Amino acid sequence: MRASRRIGAVLTALALLVSTGCSHQKGNAKVAQKLDRKGDEIVVAGQLFHTGAPVVTWMDPGGYDAYRTERRFAPWEKSSYNATTQEVKDIDSPARYNIRYTPTTRPYGSPGKQLTPEQLEQVRGGGWPLSLVQDKVDQFVYHFDVCGTSRQCFNILHDHRGLSVHFMLDVDGTIYQTLDVKERAWHATTSNNRSVGIEIANIGCYPVNNDKTLDEWYRKDPNGLTRMVLPAWMNSTWIRTPNFIARPARNEPIVGEIQGRMYKMYDLTPQQYDSLIKLTATLCTVLPKITPDYPRDEYGNLITHALSKETLENYHGLLGHYHVQTNKQDPGPAFQWDKLTNGARKLMGLKPLPNGDIINNPKTLAKK
Ligand SMILES: [Zn+2]
Repeated sequence: MRASRRIGAVLTALALLVSTGCSHQKGNAKVAQKLDRKGDEIVVAGQLFHTGAPVVTWMDPGGYDAYRTERRFAPWEKSSYNATTQEVKDIDSPARYNIRYTPTTRPYGSPGKQLTPEQLEQVRGGGWPLSLVQDKVDQFVYHFDVCGTSRQCFNILHDHRGLSVHFMLDVDGTIYQTLDVKERAWHATTSNNRSVGIEIANIGCYPVNNDKTLDEWYRKDPNGLTRMVLPAWMNSTWIRTPNFIARPARNEPIVGEIQGRMYKMYDLTPQQYDSLIKLTATLCTVLPKITPDYPRDEYGNLITHALSKETLENYHGLLGHYHVQTNKQDPGPAFQWDKLTNGARKLMGLKPLPNGDIINNPKTLAKK
């Protein structure tokens, strides 16, 4: 009896040891085993999510790191924050981002809405739980960068303006993530608290009678196909895909009304649409308060000007920078809202919405 009880106790102890051992090696991972990445992951609250599109994060070789306080492209000896303040008047803070829904020294937060003291205490070390990001982030703001390439965009934002954005989308479809989505990036004034932002590489839109910049950036091949031409001071190696030729998704420039004025612009590249659709579907899924739709009027048509303060306050979904601010035109008239939104909805397994992009789908207009 006694002997068998002792054996029983030993077996229980052994079983405990084995089970504790197992819990330290979840999924049979070995010490220092490398977790492989596919190269399509974005980071939201420290967690990785697949997009199906090429992504280079701030942690990857060739990435752009908005957490760094020194300038990226200045000579090293002049790049520190202190040295930078001597040369760049717009940079008045070592960081180009801060905590969502907290008071800020810069005019990029809405002071009315803030985290509770408990929430602030929870996240001020940087560790946002995913659930809190999901609760607080409900807009995705599209910009064009007026820089032409993502590298130049980072140079302007980080080294010259003291600003930031979560994502940059280069002409070859490469998505660069510069900050975790949990951070408040500085890209869209009053919407910074609640939004994710992306700068799309594109030289932008211009008044129809003043489109010299477009003539400099776009040429026609002998076969009549339009291509983007980098200025001589930019290097083609700035674009990650070797020998990439950037062609707008539509061969001719698009003219359309933004903020009540007519502007002309070349479309994004097909590679950009492909990546943007995948990223949009990913964000709308991971952060479900971002509804996969754009601002529409009572007839279901795209609104092509800034929303009123109240409308913007109540809006959650996809939007352009021009929906936030009256002094902005991005992402411009050529940006295809129906293609983007319904492309993302398809990936999410949702029904398409009626076309309402009055600039790019005029034949399928909702009633007016
Ligand atoms: Zn913008």
